[in-house]
Amino acid sequence: MVDEGVQVESKKAAKKEAKKAEKAAKKAEHKSEKGNTEQPEAEDVSVGKYGTLPLIRSEPRSVQRTFTDASTLDRSKNNTIVWVRGRVHTSRAKGKQCFVVLRQRNFTVQVLVSVSETISKAMVKFSSNISKESIVDLEAVVKEAPSAITSCTQSHVELVASQIWVVSASVPQLPLQIEDASRPEKPEQEDGPNIRVNQDTRLDNRVLDLRTPTNQAIFRLEAGVCRLFRDALTSRGFVEIHTPKIISAASEGGANVFTVSYFKGSAYLAQSPQLYKQMAIAADFDKVFTVGAVFRAEDSNTHRHLTEFTGLDLEMAFKYHYHEVMLTIGDLFTEIFKGLRDQFSTEIDTVNQQYPAEPFTFLEPPLLLRFDEGRKLLAEAGVEVGEEDDLSTPDEKLLGRIVKSKYDTDFYILDKYPLAVRPFYTMPDPVDPKASNSYDMFMRGEEILSGAQRIHDPEFLTERAKHHNIDLSKIAAYIDAFKYGCPPHAGGGIGLERVVMLYLGLDNVRKTSMFPRDPKRVTP
Ligand code: ATP
Repeated sequence: MVDEGVQVESKKAAKKEAKKAEKAAKKAEHKSEKGNTEQPEAEDVSVGKYGTLPLIRSEPRSVQRTFTDASTLDRSKNNTIVWVRGRVHTSRAKGKQCFVVLRQRNFTVQVLVSVSETISKAMVKFSSNISKESIVDLEAVVKEAPSAITSCTQSHVELVASQIWVVSASVPQLPLQIEDASRPEKPEQEDGPNIRVNQDTRLDNRVLDLRTPTNQAIFRLEAGVCRLFRDALTSRGFVEIHTPKIISAASEGGANVFTVSYFKGSAYLAQSPQLYKQMAIAADFDKVFTVGAVFRAEDSNTHRHLTEFTGLDLEMAFKYHYHEVMLTIGDLFTEIFKGLRDQFSTEIDTVNQQYPAEPFTFLEPPLLLRFDEGRKLLAEAGVEVGEEDDLSTPDEKLLGRIVKSKYDTDFYILDKYPLAVRPFYTMPDPVDPKASNSYDMFMRGEEILSGAQRIHDPEFLTERAKHHNIDLSKIAAYIDAFKYGCPPHAGGGIGLERVVMLYLGLDNVRKTSMFPRDPKRVTP
């Protein structure tokens, strides 16, 4: 009896062989490779002008060619010959012609492959058979389009192909169509195709999904936030530091922390770089920031929680008042918002075309409200928040709407949170025993930063930890960091994905995480 496993294996092998043979036949048919020794078919006038390139392995004497960016293809290049590398976005055969839309990131251009004295039928057929999403090299003449090609970004020109070579082929069956994934969520007119791609299909096939103009724009803008954050802080004398993600003890008592095996024992994934930022302050770095992964083992299946996100964290020593730090963070946001507005208008427009949103508004300097003022505004709207209570998510959203209508800003700072709702290391207010020197910052009514003056005195820190019933043995290293003198300091942690989501008015943090991690997803 043949073992089932072996049978399956041999079937697989046979299939593989058949595929190989099919490939070889195709190759022979197209006489694709340059320098191919086989004789060309007499009637194919295009031999050597199309086919599948051999695998590019960085050959010593590789071809030297100047490629043109699709974005620069316009009337000024009329009648010039260009080489362009791009993806086959769509292709459509029509009689003796094949219309290909070539895509390069956000830019598309129409390509015409048409039977002529130098272009054979076989070349047109080959072009129309190239599967969508394949990468091709194209030699073509730029021609002014007789009428605007509205379906392409480069609407005034088309490319008349003289060579077409497949550099990397896509399988023919795509799990999602880029056109479907790019379609606006709220089409203005209801008629016409309304096929969209659901979030799980997108995320399961993220490599394809990320090719949409919107995703290209989102992640370029996200890189912009990081750059603006770095630049704004560096110019203010901050030092970028890198903090460990593998830690020996959970910083806030062990809840919401991932345990990882660590040789013969176990360790944890850092929930925040806070302790390390503070140690850098105690070590006289004065002003520090870090950009890195933050892990939260929270089973929160919401539109704004991830189990791994990118933290933009900063910490700063001050002389006498934590507002020195809080206002620096406020200015930092103003600089980021201005930078996005001025440098990323194309990306913002692109995202808006698919996901329409009101432009993000902000004041300069930012609006600053005290927690009790926020409570009062909510009370006026009929929502009571206790003096020692935190704001619920709906409260925060309502307050965001009130603030927006009253002050016309999507960003504001809420200062002086109740002491009872903040962690043990938060400095209590020196006057009001129920308040603390802490603040949150909001974008479109959702929290994007939490921060505070931290207690820098080890005795007071011990007292506050005891008050919170925290096992002192577990935070000994944290308290010890302040034993040798430490400047007063404050800081905060920002969630990068939330900032981008809210700036663009998107509805889900998974849209701004390239490969999101949540309680139900750890792939791809
Ligand atoms: P939330 O109350 O929204 O769960 P948090 O109070 O736990 O947030 P902090 O620990 O103060 O948040 O973290 C600082 C910032 O980090 C938040 O303002 C937010 O921007 C971001 N952040 C926190 N938790 C998450 C998460 N699970 N996913 C994405 N971003 C997060």
